[in-house]
Amino acid sequence: MCSVQNMVTSASSIRHTNQRAEKKVSNLIYVVIDGMGDRPIKEIGGKTPLEAAETPNLDLLAKRGKTGLMYTVMKGVAPESDVAVLSILGYDPFKYHVGRGPLEAHGVGLDVRDGDLALRCNFATLGPERKIIDRRVGRSLTTEEASELSKAINEQVRLKSHPATFEFRNTFGHRAVLVIRSLSNQPLSDAITNTDPAYGRVKGLGVARLDAEMVLKRCEPQEESEAARVSADLVNEFVEKSHQVLERHEINRRRAASGKLTANVILTRDAGARLPNFFNINERYNVNFVCLADMPVERGIARLAGMHLVDLPPSSGDLKADMKLRADNLLRLLPNYDCFYIHIKGPDEPGHDGDFRLKMKAIELIDDLFFGDLLPKIDLDETLICVTADHATPCELKAHSDDPVPLLISGGELKSDGAERFSEKECAHGSLGVLERGTELIPILMDLMGCSS
Ligand code: ZN
Ligand code: ZN
Repeated sequence: MCSVQNMVTSASSIRHTNQRAEKKVSNLIYVVIDGMGDRPIKEIGGKTPLEAAETPNLDLLAKRGKTGLMYTVMKGVAPESDVAVLSILGYDPFKYHVGRGPLEAHGVGLDVRDGDLALRCNFATLGPERKIIDRRVGRSLTTEEASELSKAINEQVRLKSHPATFEFRNTFGHRAVLVIRSLSNQPLSDAITNTDPAYGRVKGLGVARLDAEMVLKRCEPQEESEAARVSADLVNEFVEKSHQVLERHEINRRRAASGKLTANVILTRDAGARLPNFFNINERYNVNFVCLADMPVERGIARLAGMHLVDLPPSSGDLKADMKLRADNLLRLLPNYDCFYIHIKGPDEPGHDGDFRLKMKAIELIDDLFFGDLLPKIDLDETLICVTADHATPCELKAHSDDPVPLLISGGELKSDGAERFSEKECAHGSLGVLERGTELIPILMDLMGCSS
């Protein structure tokens, strides 16, 4: 049986003396590296960024453990992070997903009630004829600037097309969330399209649209219902009115004067009209999971899954400081929890930018600064480490893909399966084979922990 201990040190020492014999390993460290997977790239000798990167620590884990590949949702689905993270935490996205909007809103502490419409948003740069010049304001919008712009939107925009209020909150950089609440008895509906052209919706799941024309879309109802029509009207009204506020805002005047892209439009996507009803992962497996993640969507998912959350500052851009902070927090919390879900950003952004050298560098830094710091300080015989990605972000596509991602599980009594390195190519021959669904992973890990449901 697995131990569920509180955070008191004395209790954790009891766990280690009394219950070690009952458990196969004491801890699981489950590391998800955002967008790490990729495809072979001609310029780096036909290798992927992970393969071309120097990763002695990840290689060491691969060498003494088992490897494989995993479709994080399923073949044919190029998932957004939220859909993929749900899946690789054991929640079938086709059953549990309710749109990224509610997850992100929940992750930043906004109230989402049944019938509220929650959407993921981007500040973006709109040009003439509804053309979107940059979906992320060139990634140059600071969180401080976005906070000022959000304040203006909340103060100056009033929705009039139907009785409703809203709360708009920026999170990091160009990212934001919007929650619209109906003031009539009519609940709002998430059966509406995205105004962000880069993402479509397949069976309610957000999927990247690689061939999309970059123009601002109108939000359209996806079903013949009053609720969907009202919801689409409200979103269009919000996009139009916030655009007017942003166009005349001092911050954008200053940005334009200094030759920067302006944050003059809000793109919306991934509507949801309720919070999902997850099973509690700690109760199901009788474990004590803690989440170390900084982005709202991963935090929202972890919170709904019943995990404890550690407050981490958002990525500072200084990967060295960020990795040290994560490794330090993990080591500090090691006696208090048995399972750790750590989500590391880094390779995804350069993947979107098609910058394979920067992606390689990001992977090397994570290997060196996170794993290099961590591994000498933990007992691998007592610890299970799983490393994978939430999806591939191939540089050639500059977008997420459905390619299977590399997977390693190492530590405890696991024996080598002959892999020499951690790479897509080596993992393709690994003894874990190809997991066809990301939902298969958590049961495997829990079984290795001696914690089957
Ligand atoms: Zn991701
Ligand atoms: Zn991405």
